[in-house]
Amino acid sequence: MPGVGISAGEMVMGVYNEITVAGLEGDRVEGIFKEAFALLRDLDLKLSHYRPDSEISRISQMAYESPVRVSDATFEVLVKGRQFYDITRGAFDITLLPLVKLWGFYEGRPRFPDQVRLQQALARTGTAYLILNSTTKQVRLSRPGMGLDLGGIAKGYACDRVVSLLKEKQVKGALINIGGTLYGFGRRADGRPWKVGVCHPREPGAVIATLILEDLALATSGDYENYFFFEGKRYSHILDPRTGMPVQGIASVSVVAPSATEADAWSTALFVLGTQQGALVLRDYPHIQALIVEEKEGRLNRVALNGFWFA
Ligand code: AMP
Ligand code: MG
Repeated sequence: MPGVGISAGEMVMGVYNEITVAGLEGDRVEGIFKEAFALLRDLDLKLSHYRPDSEISRISQMAYESPVRVSDATFEVLVKGRQFYDITRGAFDITLLPLVKLWGFYEGRPRFPDQVRLQQALARTGTAYLILNSTTKQVRLSRPGMGLDLGGIAKGYACDRVVSLLKEKQVKGALINIGGTLYGFGRRADGRPWKVGVCHPREPGAVIATLILEDLALATSGDYENYFFFEGKRYSHILDPRTGMPVQGIASVSVVAPSATEADAWSTALFVLGTQQGALVLRDYPHIQALIVEEKEGRLNRVALNGFWFA
């Protein structure tokens, strides 16, 4: 796009990713795009729970029997996942794979599960049972039948890694979009700031807020991304680790944060915590701003936390 910068896009991790770079010549940009998408593909090979040979899947398959050694990248995401589990009082949990599978979100055929099986799957979850050895980079699971799903944080982590790569390459301005998790730094080619929109949770194509990303990330978790209806109620892919049930009453949560990892993890966590508990927890994190769209009896209600700013 003239004035904005030079863009390239590619499907990786099952989502569309787009990188727009400003102020560079065509030849240099091509090389940078190549490296950035190679990085994304490499992270997908390591972190995807859809690939049976990824490091994450190897942990799920083997780490109860014997420790699994992983790469620095995988270890870093696991450490971050664990930190978010702690600071969100368990609302953010990267060990929900047994539940995600039971609800059918894994195969893309969601359904209401049997209650006995729900309790069994719930007993196989909990980041508290994920044991990380930071000296040896070995991972263990202390309960049988556990499984990891980084779906709530991997896009943010990948986005931050691309940002670091572009900054190492002396790129002065860019907008990175990893499946809807965004980070902007510097300016567009025409000197204007990176302006982005927050999607309306019920009106496809409409936006509920626009904001400027200057060394900032934006992530949104929505109940409209992956869901099904059962007896008139909507059940979506974000699960409450305390009950094993999809969260009700929230349509979307958007978070602005200094890093995409934080924006991604917080948007998922606040979706689970809800407005009241979320506001309490966020008191200790004033640099995290959130826009929660609640849905009560078919009506949407927006709540801004920590002064979520938008035009
Ligand atoms: P996001 O779109 O970033 O909010 O991530 C949602 C995805 O994260 C889901 O599709 C699941 O794979 C996974 N997930 C669901 N519930 C949770 C949770 N409470 N904590 C962490 N990840 C979750
Ligand atoms: Mg997330």
